[in-house]
Amino acid sequence: MNDEYLDFFVDVSQPLVANTLPPWIIGIIDDEPLVHEATLFALAEIEIEGRKLQFVSAYSGQKGFSLIQQYPDMAVVLLDVVMECEDSGLQLVDRIRNELNNHYLQIILRTGQPGDIPEEEIITRYEINAYKTKNELTRSQLFTTIASALRSYQLLTTIESSRNGLRQIIEASGSFLQERSVNDFSRGVLSQFKQLFAVAERSVFCATTQPLNGPVSVSDSYQRVVLVAASDSLTHFINRDIKQLDDEIFDTVALILASKQHRFEDDFSGLYLSTPSGWEGVIVTEQRVIISETSDELLKIFCMNVALGLENAKYFTYLNKAAYKDELTGLNNRVGFIEEAGLKLQSKRIDQALYLLDIDYFHQVITSLGYEFGNKILKKLASTLKHLFSSETVFGRLHSDVFAILVPGFEMSAREVAAKCSRPMVIEGQSIRMGLTVGMSITADEAGYIDDISVLIRRSEMALHVAKDHKRGAGESFDASYEVESYQSMMILSDFREGLARDEFFLVLQPKVDVNNQQVIGFEALIRWLHPEKGVVPPGAFIPSVEKSGMYYELDLYVAKALCQLLNHYPQIDVPVSFNISANSLNHDSFVGELKAVFIEHEIEASRVEIEVTENALIHSEQAVARIKELYTAGFKIGLDDFGAGFSSLAYLLRLPLHTIKIDQSFVVDIVEQPKSYILLEGILSIISKLNKEIVVEGVETEKQRDLLITLGVRVVQGFLFYKPLPVTEALELLKAEKG
Ligand code: C2E
Ligand code: CA
Ligand code: CA
Repeated sequence: MNDEYLDFFVDVSQPLVANTLPPWIIGIIDDEPLVHEATLFALAEIEIEGRKLQFVSAYSGQKGFSLIQQYPDMAVVLLDVVMECEDSGLQLVDRIRNELNNHYLQIILRTGQPGDIPEEEIITRYEINAYKTKNELTRSQLFTTIASALRSYQLLTTIESSRNGLRQIIEASGSFLQERSVNDFSRGVLSQFKQLFAVAERSVFCATTQPLNGPVSVSDSYQRVVLVAASDSLTHFINRDIKQLDDEIFDTVALILASKQHRFEDDFSGLYLSTPSGWEGVIVTEQRVIISETSDELLKIFCMNVALGLENAKYFTYLNKAAYKDELTGLNNRVGFIEEAGLKLQSKRIDQALYLLDIDYFHQVITSLGYEFGNKILKKLASTLKHLFSSETVFGRLHSDVFAILVPGFEMSAREVAAKCSRPMVIEGQSIRMGLTVGMSITADEAGYIDDISVLIRRSEMALHVAKDHKRGAGESFDASYEVESYQSMMILSDFREGLARDEFFLVLQPKVDVNNQQVIGFEALIRWLHPEKGVVPPGAFIPSVEKSGMYYELDLYVAKALCQLLNHYPQIDVPVSFNISANSLNHDSFVGELKAVFIEHEIEASRVEIEVTENALIHSEQAVARIKELYTAGFKIGLDDFGAGFSSLAYLLRLPLHTIKIDQSFVVDIVEQPKSYILLEGILSIISKLNKEIVVEGVETEKQRDLLITLGVRVVQGFLFYKPLPVTEALELLKAEKG
C-alpha cells in the first residue's frame, strides 16, 4: 500500500470520538493469585482513551494460551515469566507470535526477580513490549505502562483496519468497472458501505438521473432522483423516482440532497456524494454511523471512489445509449437504425420502402445562421417525421442532415415524401420552409425480397446522389443502372491494380511520442502511392474506392509485406510499429491465415507490430470479433483506431482483446472548445486506464491540446504538433539521434 495513506492514521493522540466503545481487554497470566488481585485493585475503575478496562485471567502458561485464543481482541497481556516451568512465559510469547501469528497483542512481561529479566535479544525477537518486576505494581506505574501499550495496540490495529478498508475499496472499485449497469454498480456500493461502516439497519442509495453539466442523456428530459439500490425490504422501489415513494427514509434522502453534506445523527446517517460532472448521490441508513478517525479517512476515500465509479457507470449507460441513439434528435443514429430497420426487414417480410431525406442547402443555413439554428431545424424535422409517419415506421438520422425512414408499403414516391415532409416549420418565431431531396429504394427486386438493410441503404444513397444532381427539392428512386460503379472510381481502381503490380506504393512512418519526455515510443505505418502522373496520392483519395471494390484485401496484405520487409531491412527499428487493416478484411475467412503466413515467411515476430482496426469494423460483426481474437492469440497486438469517432458501446468493446485504444482526432479538437467533451474524455480515460489498456491520442496539433491531454494524464500522443508521417530514412535518423 502507498505510504501516503498511512500518514492519515498515525496520529492517535486524540481520543476516538465515540459514545459506547467496547472496553479494552487486558489479560493477566500469572501463577500467583495475589498478583491478580493487586493488579485488579490498582486499576479498578480506570478508563483509558474513553474506554473501560476488562480483565481476564489465567494461572498457567497452558491456560494463558487458551485465554488468548478465546479473546482475540485482547489488547494487552501482563505475563509472568516463571510459572509451571522456568520459561513458561517466554514459551507462551513464542506461541502468541508464531503459532497464533498475533503481532498486535502488547506483551508486558513481569518477573519476580530482576535477575529473571530475559536477554535483550529475546525481547526484540519476540516483540516483547515491556518488562517489569512485580514490585512495580503501583497504580501509577501500571497505569502508564498499560496506557502506552494500549496506544501502541490502537495504532497497530488502526493501521490494519484502514489497510483492510482500503483494500476492500480498491478491490471493489475494480469490480465496479466490470458492472455494466448503474444498478449493479450501486448494489455493490451499498453492500460495501454496510461492510465498511458496520451498518445493519435499512439503507438506500439514490442518485440523480442527469448530470448538472455533463452530457445530457437522450431519454431523460428532466432531473429526477431515483432509488438505485436498497436493503431487502425496499428493493421493490428500485428505479423509481423518490418523490413517488411513500417511506420516510426518502425524506431523509431529500434532506441530505438539499443540504449537500454528510449528516450523522442518532437515528440516521447520510452520505452526500457528487461527481465532477455534477451527478449527485445519497446513501442513507437508519442508524448512527460512528465515524472514528480511521473511518473518517476511509469515508473520504470511499466517497471519492463511489463518485468516480458513479461517473463511469453513468458513462457506460450514456455511451451504450449513444451507441444507438442520436443525441440531438432522439432518433436512432446510423448504427441504431441499421439494427432496428434490419430486424424489421427480416422479421416482417412485407413490402417496405427506405427513404433517405437530405435537407437542401443545409450547410449554407449553418454558415449564415449558425449551428444552434441548424440544430433546431434538425430537431424540428425529426419531430415532424414522427408526426407524419405511423408508429410502424423506423426512424433514424444517419449523419449530419440525412434522415432515414423505413416505411411499410410502396405507396409514396420519393417526390411525394419530399413534398410531404418539407412543410413550413416555425423556428424562433419565424416560419421557414426547408427543401428536401429524397432518395428511395424498395424491398422488391428482380431477384426477390431484399432483407439486407445495407443493400437498401446503399441503393437509396445512390438514388439520393443522383437526385441531388438533377432533382433537388424532389426525389429519385433507385435504378439498377446506378449500381455500376461511377466512371471515376472505376478509373481509380484500374489504376490501383496496376499500381500494385508495379509496386508504386510505399510506407511512411508517423512517430508516437511520450509527451513527458518527447521520446519516440512507436510508429504508425501509413501508405502512400507514388503515382507516375499524379505524384504522391494520399490514402484518402483511393482507399474509399478500394474498400468498396473489395480490393482492400490485397491492399492490407501488401502493406503487411512491405512492413515486414522494412523491419527486416532496418533492425534498428526497435519500437513497435502499427499498421492499419481495413474493416472488411476481418470478414474474410482466409485473411488471418494469410496475414500470419506473411509474418512467418519474413520471420517477423507478430508481437513487434500492432494491428489497428476501426471500431465500426467490430460493431455488429461477431465474425470480425472472432478474427480479432484469432489475431490476438497469434501474438499480434491489437489497437482500436478512431475511438470516439462513432461513439461505440464501451461495454461491448471491453469484451474484446485490445492492447491499445486510439482516441480519435475529433475528440482532441473538441476538448479545447467544449467542456462536455473534456469531461467525457476524462471519464473515458479513467475507464480505459482501469482496464490496463494503452491509450494513444491522435491528431494532436496544438500546444493547448497537448497541455489539456497532459492534465488528463495522457502519455502517448501522435500528431502534427510532434511529427508528420515521415519517410523511412527520416524516421531512422530520429531513432538514431535519440540513442545519441
Ligand atoms: P488513420 O488510421 O486514422 O491515420 C491517421 C491519419 O491522420 C493519417 O492520415 C495521418 O497522417 C493523419 N494525422 C496524423 N496526425 C495528424 C494531425 O495532427 N492532424 C491531422 N489533420 N491529421 C493527422 P493519412 O496517412 O492520410 O491516412 C488517412 C487514413 O487512411 C488512415 O486514417 C487510415 O484509415 C487509412 N490508411 C492509411 N494507410 C493505410 C494502410 O496502409 N492500410 C489501410 N487499410 N488504411 C490506411
Ligand atoms: Ca490508424
Ligand atoms: Ca485513426
